[in-house]
Amino acid sequence: MKTISVLGSTGSIGTQTLDVVRHHPDIRVAALSAGKNVALLEEQIREFRPRLAALADEAAARDLRSRIRDLDVRVAYGMDGLIEVSSIREADITVTAIVGMIGILPTMEAIRAGKDIALANKETLVTAGHLIMPLAKECGVRILPVDSEHSAIFQSLNGEKYERIEKILLTCSGGPFRGFDSGALEKVTVEDALRHPNWNMGPKITVDSATLVNKGLEVMEAGWLFGVDWDRIEVVVHPQSVIHSAVSFVDGAVIAQMGTPDMRLPIQYALFWPDRRRMETKRLDLCSLGALTFEKPDTTVFRGLPLALRAMKEGGTMPTVFNAANEMAVSRFLRRQISFTDIYRMIESCMDAHTVSPEPDVATILSVEKEVYARLEEL
Ligand code: NDP
Repeated sequence: MKTISVLGSTGSIGTQTLDVVRHHPDIRVAALSAGKNVALLEEQIREFRPRLAALADEAAARDLRSRIRDLDVRVAYGMDGLIEVSSIREADITVTAIVGMIGILPTMEAIRAGKDIALANKETLVTAGHLIMPLAKECGVRILPVDSEHSAIFQSLNGEKYERIEKILLTCSGGPFRGFDSGALEKVTVEDALRHPNWNMGPKITVDSATLVNKGLEVMEAGWLFGVDWDRIEVVVHPQSVIHSAVSFVDGAVIAQMGTPDMRLPIQYALFWPDRRRMETKRLDLCSLGALTFEKPDTTVFRGLPLALRAMKEGGTMPTVFNAANEMAVSRFLRRQISFTDIYRMIESCMDAHTVSPEPDVATILSVEKEVYARLEEL
């Protein structure tokens, strides 16, 4: 029997995690958390019977308490609530399916409490990888990737020594605007950006896939997870999204993981690793696919990738600036206040204005996030 807690159980990854749980009677749920979606959290509590639930604020928590008066479930809120959920005694694994840097502290507390982390919340590694990875090592806990590309790399590495990696080949669909020039990219709408060719995800990450900012965040995430320098991670555009990523080894062998796009696979792999369980999902039919194609990303038009590379090279607090500026810019784009290419301009202007602090602690990371938000409010 395994027991998990889920940060962000009402989101895209959170609900798919609970769908995996639904198919495996040997996983129990000890705690769930959400932001404001009280109705869905109530449904999840009634189905999965956790001992603890948490919401973003006191009003939402009060609402939930009154809805589940008939159940013996404690309801917490705010950062304390998130930390209680992530480090609850019964859980073996904490699934970090929350979005944004708010996940840093609960993830670190889960690690300190000895929980393995099934990590979807890439922003935590991008901004605080230098704190999280050594802490996990010190506490003897595993960081099990949920992001499909990182799970593919993890699966390709199964049984191999990380020192034998020559290069990581991180695949990328290219998003809905692959092949566009800068002029055409200026004119795209929110609806166009939300039409991802292969994956069905939340709006923020779908826009990040279209700008290639998501791929930049994933390069940083892979660097931390697999201990590989950024210049040994190659982004390869592969529009069919069949190869989810690959590893090239020192002897020239390349091992890749393939499959149909279904996030429940990497989630389930993280929950049961090193075991592999049966899953009812569409099977890959290679003959009907015909051809798999590959190309280099267009970094002149899709500036998300070179801006991420700059943030990685400058290091310290710069990845936080990159991530926070992008979060704010994407939210404005989704509210139709700025154009698609303004996302790049906003990120770049925040990066140009920032002086890097090396090796930032959590308080510094969170205060840089606030500074970036304040700067962008003024623009
Ligand atoms: P969603 O926006 O769908 O879900 C986010 C979850 O976090 C929801 O449960 C939300 O609650 C909760 N949440 C948001 N703000 C707060 C807050 N202030 N306090 C407490 N809880 C909060 O995101 P995704 O599931 O798409 O993504 C989650 C993470 O996984 C991200 O880091 C993303 O980059 C990563 N990821 C996602 C993939 C995908 O396929 N979606 C693929 C790979 C990685 P509520 O519902 O109440 O708002």
